[in-house]
Amino acid sequence: MTALLDPAVPVFPESDISDSTENTPANGQSVVADVAAEDTTAFVPVSTFGELGLPKALVAALNRSGIKEPFPIQAATIPDALSGCDILGRGSTGSGKTLAFGLPMIARIASLPVLPKHPRGLILVPTRELAMQVSDELEPLGRSLGLHFKTVVGGTSMSRQIEALQRGVDVLVATPGRLADLIRQRACFLDDIEVVVLDEADQMADMGFLPEVTALLELVSPAAQTLLFSATLDRDVDTLVRQHMHDPVRHELEPATSPVDTMEHHVFVVNREDKPTVATQIARREGRTIMFCRSQLGAERVATNIAERGVNARALHGGMSQNARTRTMADFKEGRIDVLVATDVAARGIHVDDVTLVVHVDPPEDPKAYLHRAGRTARAGATGRVVTLVLRNQRKSMQRLHQQAGVTATEHDVLPGDQTLIDLTGARATR
Ligand code: ADP
Ligand code: MG
Repeated sequence: MTALLDPAVPVFPESDISDSTENTPANGQSVVADVAAEDTTAFVPVSTFGELGLPKALVAALNRSGIKEPFPIQAATIPDALSGCDILGRGSTGSGKTLAFGLPMIARIASLPVLPKHPRGLILVPTRELAMQVSDELEPLGRSLGLHFKTVVGGTSMSRQIEALQRGVDVLVATPGRLADLIRQRACFLDDIEVVVLDEADQMADMGFLPEVTALLELVSPAAQTLLFSATLDRDVDTLVRQHMHDPVRHELEPATSPVDTMEHHVFVVNREDKPTVATQIARREGRTIMFCRSQLGAERVATNIAERGVNARALHGGMSQNARTRTMADFKEGRIDVLVATDVAARGIHVDDVTLVVHVDPPEDPKAYLHRAGRTARAGATGRVVTLVLRNQRKSMQRLHQQAGVTATEHDVLPGDQTLIDLTGARATR
């Protein structure tokens, strides 16, 4: 029996953000070594999507969007996913997980007829923004094989979702709450689902969605395939894995703590009274920037403060209407906003090209939150810088957090207008 099936051994024995020395389960085996031994496909060089077994029309659609060669996580997981195995996939932020689960899902359900109210594919995600993004990325590819997608999230028209389901939807991309509502209204049934994807499952757990996710998975036939992907996987996800996955193949493409190596980390130690000025000076840089704040109010305050000094900045948080959230994300993606000041609602999965700097205006809650916020830069092989603003009394806890996140950061004492500040971020003095 493998460790994975042994009820005495947790599937993820330690949080993936823990120190590697702690990463040894009760049986004394190293998880990382264990995975490396299992994960042989990761090291077979594959140069095209066709060689991975994907249908020609899908490969052609990928090529049309400029995606020619599979990234490592895709090369590793797609053949197993196509063969019908359940998969647990971990790859760092920006490594291409959406296509890793999306392509085999599309290929596997493409030949199946669709019935009203009975989707064949289901992708569950923690936030509305992520649902829309996953759908934007996969829908055109699905269309090449004649598949219909529908995004089902709160804050949007339920009647349109009901109509679409009635006409027939192949793949639903959903947040758990809205999907549960539709099911209660008998507008959607999950008994024909062939493939379920849980993207960022640990965040769904952190957000308290686990009971809802579990209830939804109970409605899916046990014969369905389950694909679970995240940049971090931890204990909370164990329950899902045990109860709803069958002998999953694990693909973890790097050791548990593996910061993206094209990412650079800095800590700016600032005086309390200087923090707003330092944040504003950074915001006046050239290029796309995401700033993270701990609270909705904080994000509003920082965004207003920065915008008042002539920077194209906007807040994004869960307290805004869905319309405003969607518009803000679109404006940022399309370059009409330079600085997005967000709560952790934008920390997971969100991909915007060319975000060259992430600033933690407030330090993140824990190492996992750090890695996900930071992961909005240095995506898909690009480089990026991450800066955390800390007050003197936060230095120690930030050092600990970086250490737990497996990140080496350089600390600088910074005053407004300092050369270090300018050199590292492109900051400009405030008018
Ligand atoms: P993750 O979910 O692992 O954080 P994403 O799936 O959001 O990462 O992918 C990050 C970016 O890389 C996206 O813009 C995606 O379109 C792009 N991408 C993914 N796979 C490839 C590939 N094989 N070739 C080129 N670009 C890719
Ligand atoms: Mg993702």
